[in-house]
Amino acid sequence: MAENISNTAEESVKSLNFLEEIIENDIENGLKEVHTRFPPEPNGYLHIGHAKSICLNFGLAKRYNGTCNLRFDDTNPAKEETEYVDSIKEDIKWLGFKWNKECYTSDYFQQLYDWAVELIKKNLAYVDDQTQEEIRKGRGTVMNSGVESPYRNRSVEENIDLLERMKNGEFADGEKVLRAKIDMSHPNMLMRDPLLYRILHADHHRTGKKWSIYPMYDYAHGESDSIENITHSICTLEFDVHRALYEWFIEKLNIYPSHQFEFARLNITNTVMSKRKLLQLVKENLVMGWDDPRMPTICGLRRRGYTPASIRTFAEKVGVAKRDNIIDLGLLEFCVREDLNHSSQRRMAVLDPIKVVITNYPEDKTEIISCINNPQDEEAGHRDISFSREVYIDRNDFKEEATKKYFRLSPGKEVRLRYSYLIKCEEVIKDSEGNITELRCSYDPESMGGKSSDGRKVKGIIHWVDVKTAGEIEVRLFDRLFLQENPDEAEEGKTFVDNINPDSLTIVKGYAESSLLKAKIGESFQFERIGYFVVDKDSTENKQIFNRTVTLRDTWAKSLKKK
Ligand code: ATP
Ligand code: MG
Repeated sequence: MAENISNTAEESVKSLNFLEEIIENDIENGLKEVHTRFPPEPNGYLHIGHAKSICLNFGLAKRYNGTCNLRFDDTNPAKEETEYVDSIKEDIKWLGFKWNKECYTSDYFQQLYDWAVELIKKNLAYVDDQTQEEIRKGRGTVMNSGVESPYRNRSVEENIDLLERMKNGEFADGEKVLRAKIDMSHPNMLMRDPLLYRILHADHHRTGKKWSIYPMYDYAHGESDSIENITHSICTLEFDVHRALYEWFIEKLNIYPSHQFEFARLNITNTVMSKRKLLQLVKENLVMGWDDPRMPTICGLRRRGYTPASIRTFAEKVGVAKRDNIIDLGLLEFCVREDLNHSSQRRMAVLDPIKVVITNYPEDKTEIISCINNPQDEEAGHRDISFSREVYIDRNDFKEEATKKYFRLSPGKEVRLRYSYLIKCEEVIKDSEGNITELRCSYDPESMGGKSSDGRKVKGIIHWVDVKTAGEIEVRLFDRLFLQENPDEAEEGKTFVDNINPDSLTIVKGYAESSLLKAKIGESFQFERIGYFVVDKDSTENKQIFNRTVTLRDTWAKSLKKK
């Protein structure tokens, strides 16, 4: 009970975003059920920007006990594919959302056509024979009115006949269009007789060759919302000038009054977020594919080791803004780090190995040490690791010439091997070029698990793996894909592609404790003292590959403290 009360208190303290305010106001004024939709065009894979929109649309529906439809906005046959439809569904499910209905704008083609005929009959639409260029010129400018098309006053009968013949494929692409008859001197340029239909002889992924005309976004979107009784049609800011047109169609057709609301699209530093640009990266082989772990796509983030919860938390933290802004990539990393800290088991792995031989430890002896899997989660239990005379440690945990403040291993100094003994470096072995190849150490046999023979304290604790049982792994270390905060702000004559970080991927060979060698694709771990890692899908029975999801260091929170 007490818990419930504090939850409610917390809820009421959290202020509503502007969309929640609008919805609550609508409910107060009698709205029975909230209906939203997520309307992707199936012309690419979803990215983190879409995830924001998904969390918002599905989240609002859930919060107000309404429903959210998934609608494929498939009005452009040239760029759309079933592969994308499938990936979009997979990504939404993975994010943890369930749609009410799976809809396709193409299912409404007949209805949209019938409504076009209705608009013609109401003298609100006409077939125009002008070329694209003539239409563009005729629109005028923001400063000057446009001019009416010479075809604007065709009779209703002629328009109906021409539209039907356009539909039946009697004309070539671009020969004619259907336009709304609104006002060629309207201050909003989009209201100057906008296009409703264009001729396109193309194969559509669902309707095949049935249609030779396809509706424009502005004509199809609002009506599709209306067909589905969408109450709140949420889109990004650049559509605010389209709202007048959205309302015009609904009003003139006298159909269910859906309403459009705009919010700021998500932008993230050092990232590009348009499907067109992401497709270019894939096509030009600048990344390994749509699911490259450096990509901001949902499948890329998944392969990188991001969890659905971390992405939902990120969307929540970003909030809903009415003005465009750019979010620090560090916030996304912060969210996944927090989540993985709770959910992932700890393991030991060494990414830049240097061999340590413990000279006073018996050669044929092996000890088994029981380690806790996750200090954040008691139920995660324990596992056994082995310890013997030779171990690998990370090269950067040793310094030949150490300062007083250096607490890791150095000649004559003592350090603790995590969960195990204190060791002291007695000798440094080098090859002919002066590279360190081996460290010879002694150990204190009384010092297992936090103790020491005489009660002395040692500050440094380092991770290690047992040479006898450790296995080789490949580790892919990722860095931001673009050097500049806003990759689109390229110098003159250059594009975002020239801004790619040449060091965004580093592959290293390391050693991992034996339990990591059996881990399954998609499993996440914290490599102690290093970061969070996930098993990559390229792994085979003989070769485990790990992707670094994120480092342990929390640069985002630190930079916040500084501000
Ligand atoms: P892109 O420019 O990346 O191709 P898009 O807007 O053309 O994106 P759609 O498939 O049309 O992609 O988008 C589906 C939904 O996702 C739309 O409602 C759109 O407003 C929303 N959306 C797309 N990108 C973002 C973003 N960066 N932030 C928030 N919402 C977005
Ligand atoms: Mg689009």
